[in-house]
Formats: sequence, C-alpha cells, structure tokens
Amino acid sequence: MNLVSYSIKTKGVLAFSRRLVTVFTRFGVSEERTRRSLDSMIEAVRAYDSAPTFFIPASVLGRSSGLIRRVQRSGAEIGVHGYVHNDYRGLSKDAQARQTRDAIAVFDREKIQFAGFRNPYLGWDEVSIEVFRSCGFSYDSNEAVFHDVVAVNGLASALADSLSRSLKLFQAIPYTEYNLRPHTEDGLVRIPLSIPDDEMLFDRLQITDTDRLGELWRSIMRRVYDAGGIYVLNLHPERGVLARGALDALLRKAREFALPVWVARLCEVQEWWRERAETTAQVTSAGDGHWRVEVIGSPRATLLTRNLTIEGSETTPWPGGDCRVMSRSCVVAAAAFPGVALSERTTPDVERMLREQGYPILRVASEAQAAGSVFVDRPEGLGGDRAERQHTASALVKVIEQGAAPLARIGIWPEGRRAALSITGDIDSVTIQDFFLRILEVRRFSAA
Ligand SMILES: [Zn+2]
Repeated sequence: MNLVSYSIKTKGVLAFSRRLVTVFTRFGVSEERTRRSLDSMIEAVRAYDSAPTFFIPASVLGRSSGLIRRVQRSGAEIGVHGYVHNDYRGLSKDAQARQTRDAIAVFDREKIQFAGFRNPYLGWDEVSIEVFRSCGFSYDSNEAVFHDVVAVNGLASALADSLSRSLKLFQAIPYTEYNLRPHTEDGLVRIPLSIPDDEMLFDRLQITDTDRLGELWRSIMRRVYDAGGIYVLNLHPERGVLARGALDALLRKAREFALPVWVARLCEVQEWWRERAETTAQVTSAGDGHWRVEVIGSPRATLLTRNLTIEGSETTPWPGGDCRVMSRSCVVAAAAFPGVALSERTTPDVERMLREQGYPILRVASEAQAAGSVFVDRPEGLGGDRAERQHTASALVKVIEQGAAPLARIGIWPEGRRAALSITGDIDSVTIQDFFLRILEVRRFSAA
C-alpha cells in the first residue's frame, strides 16, 4: 500500500488534503525550515539541561546527513525510524530484519551513533522485538499509552472517528492498563510513549491553539508524575516552531512539582534501566522485629519505604504515603518481611516482573508464613497474551505499592526523581522532496 492510500485509509480524504496543504507550509525545498524547527526543540530542552531524542528513517538520513550530524553534535540523540517510512506489521521476520540491517548500514556509513528504534506509525509486532534485539538495539520506543485528556463525547463524529482510527493504528493501550514504567523483554528495554501526540491533536482533532495544547500536555505530565512513570512526548519537528509555546509550558510544568522530574534522552533512560536492573534492596533479619535494608548496586538508586519505622536514618516524604531514605542502608522495625512474599508455585514470569519493580522477594511455603507481608500467589502466571500480562502487572503493582503491608523498594528513577520526561520527535521528512519520495520509497519496499 502506498502512502497516499495508507494515509487516506487512516486519516480520511479530507484530513489527507489538509495534510498536503500543511506539507507545503511546514517544509521547504531546502533543509532550512526543518533545521530551524530542530534547533527550536533543542533550545527548549537545553534550558532544562537535557536534549531531545529524534528518530529518522535511514533513507531521509542519507539525504540530510550533514544536518543530522550537526544535530547529534549539539547533544540530541538520533534513533532509527525504519529504512523507509513504512509499517512493519505484516512483514515477515526476514523482511523486517533485512530493512532494519539496511537502515543500520546507512547510520554506520553516515557515522551516526544510535541505540534505539521507533517504528513508523508505531507499527511494531511481536516479531519486531526479536529483530531489534538481534540487530543490537538497546531499546525501542513503540508502546503507545493513551491518556483520555480530550473529552471524546464532545467531539464531532468525524473527529471522533479520526481519533479512533489513530488509536487503532497506534495499538494504543489505555493508561489505566499500564504503569508507564520502562520494562525489559529478553534484553530489550521497552520505553512507552504517551499519546495523544502532536499529530493526533493538530491534524486529527484540529486542536491548534498553543495554550490548549500546552494545557493537555501538562495534564498528562500531572498524571505521569502521580504515577511516578515516564512521559515520552512525541512532537514531530515539522511542528516544532508552531508548538514551541506548548513545549515550553510542558517543560515548565515538569519543574513545578514538589519532587524533581528527570528530563532525559531515551538513551539515558535505557542506560539507567539497565543499571537499575543490577540493583536490589537487600533485606536481612536484624532480629527482634527488625530488618536491615541495604541498596546493593547503583550509587544513583533511590531507596523508598512504606508502613515501616526507620531507625537512625534521615528520611524525606514521598507521594502516596512513602518515605525516601537518604542513606544507602537502614534498620527498620516491621512485624513482617518488608518485601513481597511469593508462594512457591508462583511462576517465574511473575517473579521477574516483581523484581524489575525493585521489590525484595521472599519465597514462602504457605500464606501463613507470609503473614503481615504482601503475599502474591499466582500459579497461572501473568497471563496468556500481552494485554492480559500488562493488566495483571499493573494491578499487582498497584496492590503492592498502595497497600498497608511494610515495603522497602528501589525507586523507579535515579537520585530521588519522582518521574521522567523525554522530549522526542520523528523526523519523517526534512524537505518537501522527502515527503513525496516517501510515496515512491514505500511502494518500492512493499514490492521488494
Ligand atoms: Zn514517522
């Protein structure tokens, strides 16, 4: 399927005609407009001591490598957005691997370092994960978590249809079903992004007022902060100048909370996630209703506790009734093991997921032995399909982190940060020529 029919199918004829008009206003024959947009985003994030992460198809990179090298030298991260701007869903594993390796060859030739992959249209499938891993990627940024910040009831039916088409296209997961934390699948770190992105808001829902846009993104940031997760914003650089006010408002919002929000590139997030995976809160009995809790691993780790009396260590308050312990070890008074007691018959996938959350784990022979601790008994595992596994994991995390049982754990983010924010953008085209070349390139690749 070529881009025209693809776009019409997912956006509708009217939306596609509008898109054609905007292409001529947002891109130029030269790289100049895109360069200005990229610079605008880089400048906005630099004020927060960080930089954006951009994803670009290799074919576009090949035509604008000078510009992209300059962007990377400025501190921004560059990731791979396919060889051409096509959807991987429905391609065989061989075809996905071939196109991914071809993309890597262009990045290598143009001397652009990369760590991550994001699919055009977020069009990944189960096979893609194996391909990313075997091609040496450290992370992907494809899982789209949808925040219902726009009231769908109030929308005209054409807009509501357009929204539901894009949610389907992006395989959107409701935010109530996902805890907005990265996770690892067979060595690949997966970092969720949050939608609606700029494309959905501008072109599908026709919300173009910068103040309104900023308000919506700020409300997502609030939710992500409350959940202690990560907000990965996707702002296509073609709207980088147009949406600058909204981006500034979002970044300002991230500085307004009681606890710091980590503004970081995705490559730093994946590095941290690996470092954190090597870190545990080790719990040993100190006798007489006392336990010694010690961080083993990363010096950047944050130690959190709830429903415990901490002796001889300084603490500061943390949202949700938790405490942050300011030292790497402490002695706590608790009637029971301050971690998760797991029944013998609970499956390894559940244990892996719980360890990834940073909880100390103790296998117990019976529920009686777990008395007073959080007890998890799940012989059936997390679930049969991906949606079920996400739902179970999210629900378990809520029960454990909001419960009344004593709990020590490694916080999600480094150095006492409550949440994370990554500004990202897909550079689908640099020039008007790129936009039209996409139609030919995607057709050639579908036929290949
Ligand atoms: Zn794209």
